[in-house]
Amino acid sequence: MPAVTVDNVLVLPRIPTPDPATSVERPVRSVTTAPSGFEGEGFPVRRAFAGVALTDLDPFIHMDQMGEVDYAPGEPRGTDWHPHRGFETVTYIIDGVFQHQDSHGGGGVIANGATQWMTAGSGILHIETPPEELVISGGLFHGVQLWVNLPSKDKMASPRYQNLEADQVTLLASDDGGALVRLIAGGLDGHSGPGATSTPITIAHATLSAGARLSLPWRSDFNALAFVLDGAGTVGRDHSPIERGQLVLFGRGDAMTLTAHPTRTLDVLLLGGRPIGEPVAAYGPFVMNTRAEIQQAFEDFNAGRFGQIPANGLRPYRR
Ligand code: MN
Repeated sequence: MPAVTVDNVLVLPRIPTPDPATSVERPVRSVTTAPSGFEGEGFPVRRAFAGVALTDLDPFIHMDQMGEVDYAPGEPRGTDWHPHRGFETVTYIIDGVFQHQDSHGGGGVIANGATQWMTAGSGILHIETPPEELVISGGLFHGVQLWVNLPSKDKMASPRYQNLEADQVTLLASDDGGALVRLIAGGLDGHSGPGATSTPITIAHATLSAGARLSLPWRSDFNALAFVLDGAGTVGRDHSPIERGQLVLFGRGDAMTLTAHPTRTLDVLLLGGRPIGEPVAAYGPFVMNTRAEIQQAFEDFNAGRFGQIPANGLRPYRR
């Protein structure tokens, strides 16, 4: 059932709390704290997956939380043109604006709840940069970029681009109505998000009001991760404390529970997918299966086989 409006009130489908008699609550395997770093031309990020084994992240590779930062005028930064091969980049902008363009004809403005899904496949060049007006004005910026691996059979597929606007996201509520869940891609309790994925995955952004609890069913053949974008709360049966910048890796089961701090909201990105189970050779902007394929990627890039920067293509704006 989709969301409906009754007397100007948006009524969201509710996610029923899994029955403890028939479901298995996923235990917390680890809580790690993301170190800070800088990406591209020097914008602040948190490396969300640092310290977690690739086999536990599979099918995910890497994730940066960009900001949250309140830029002064002239400060906003992005990346210049650079290549990718062998995986997908998923860019979700929570606050602010990012511009994107690629060598395969994809691109656009990503703003305030929109997601841009770029399948690099066999090779692409792209740029991700704040628009001129944001560089001039400064302002709030907060987003996430997630790298989703592709299985070997799809690594050399043609590039693809999906633009998912904020109003396309599937909105759900927790059982008690205290949490909003934005389903960006994949399935959750029989509902589907708009993102089309190569490997089965689920990506959702949940906001829990102070003291609210969110219990979710989560496919048992998926891994399960929760990254705290903002706020604080607890997770799991033993109420392990979590706060902004921390990643929860869950163990096996088919349900999970998060609770917001009694006086603070909790914003989390929930991620899971069916592990691909192939060897990963990741180097810089390329994610392949073998070192020889990484070397081939560098050769192909240097030989210009990733395409061309479009004439009059975007460039980082500098005052
Ligand atoms: Mn990139």
